Amino acid sequence: MASTTTGSYTLPEIRHSFDLTQDQRMIRDMVREFALAEVQPLAHEIDEEHRFPHETWKKIVGLGLPGIPFPEEYGGSNGGTLAYCLAVEELSRVCASTGLTLAAHVSLGTYPIYKWGSERLRNLYVPKLIAGEFMGAYGLTEPNAGSDSGGTQTTALRQGNEYVLNGAKCFITNANYAGTFICTAVTDPKLGPKGISAFVVPRETPGFSVEPGEHKLGMRGSDWASLVFQDARIPSDNLLGPEGEGFKTFMKTLEGGRISIAALSLGIAQGAYDVAMKYAQDREAFGKKLSDQQAVQFKLANMALEIEASRHLVYHAARLKDADQVYGKEAAMAKLFASETAMRVTYEAIQIHGGYGYSREYPVERMWRDAKLCVIGEGTSEIQRLIISRSILKGAKAV
Ligand SMILES: Cc1cc2nc3c(=O)[nH]c(=O)nc-3n(C[C@H](O)[C@H](O)[C@H](O)COP(=O)(O)OP(=O)(O)OC[C@H]3O[C@@H](n4cnc5c(N)ncnc54)[C@H](O)[C@@H]3O)c2cc1C
Repeated sequence: MASTTTGSYTLPEIRHSFDLTQDQRMIRDMVREFALAEVQPLAHEIDEEHRFPHETWKKIVGLGLPGIPFPEEYGGSNGGTLAYCLAVEELSRVCASTGLTLAAHVSLGTYPIYKWGSERLRNLYVPKLIAGEFMGAYGLTEPNAGSDSGGTQTTALRQGNEYVLNGAKCFITNANYAGTFICTAVTDPKLGPKGISAFVVPRETPGFSVEPGEHKLGMRGSDWASLVFQDARIPSDNLLGPEGEGFKTFMKTLEGGRISIAALSLGIAQGAYDVAMKYAQDREAFGKKLSDQQAVQFKLANMALEIEASRHLVYHAARLKDADQVYGKEAAMAKLFASETAMRVTYEAIQIHGGYGYSREYPVERMWRDAKLCVIGEGTSEIQRLIISRSILKGAKAV
């Protein structure tokens, strides 16, 4: 049996052909060290126990990771999207649940308030979210509206200085520990998606409750739950952006969020490759190492190739966002390719481990289960193909 075990493996150095800045390298190396020392040892346990690792989250906040992409005036470090993606990638390389917790908190729970919130909402909530006083969650998906989120059924009726919300959301990451929930609701049913608005719903809102989520295939160390609104009253000031712009705001939020899910996918793929490579070099069959068998070498070559291509797409999309350029198509491409790469690489990593790969003793089966989220969350692979095809066809018509 090979020496690679869930509890102890080292991470080989990745040789980047990218010109990362000194600050970006520093963040990547710091998170890598932290991930190995503090996150990896818990990865198996939190998956088995379906447990949210509060102790790890506190340390992540202590390292300032939730503030990486935000300006200093809110308590952030102004490090940019790429540095933030490097942090998500490194965490996910050893524990995807932990990467998802950070990605959902930053890209979905905090960024929309920073980007579209009034000055009051920004000042009230963004510093607290960055300082980890509470977590942020994002409620778009409903029992009858996921990919087709224009079909949102939750309603928000204006009554004086308040909105009264009724409806439900499901599969909401970080919901059990969130202090703020960014949610969509229909303010004018006659207008279709243009009648959807976005709101910041504080946890203590009367008529609002968080209900237990379903058991999950993977990402079991990440929290999720359902949201229920029964005449939930929030101040009209908690509208995020103008009334009727909520659908647009959420779609823009998802564009950014997709880059972090792409980074998460890249981390999972890299992590699975790391352990498969080590296993192939340790394990012998037919009198030689697995890594000396050409069929295994070809698997490793394909894995390395797709990971390298994913890294190019992910960092490119992050750099476009950092440069304030249009990045919707590139974010969709990065998310689609990196998440499908994570599925293929984790599948092959299990294959290289043979029967041991199928056992819970090795991390590759967890990585495979975790990777499945990446082809579903923040827009399924089918939806990414729709976004890409619409974008390229629009471009083709313009030529
Ligand atoms: C672990 C996890 C965490 C999540 N966290 C959050 C969260 O924090 N906040 C949140 O709001 N949501 C969250 N989600 C929900 C997630 O975003 C949705 O599950 C996803 O968008 C798909 O929606 P759905 O589940 O309703 O599937 P559906 O929309 O019903 O899709 C079912 C299938 O039909 C396909 N399909 C649908 N429409 C089309 C089409 N037009 N063309 C081709 N194929 C199509 C889909 O690709 C999919 O394969 C999370 C989900 C998971 C699994």
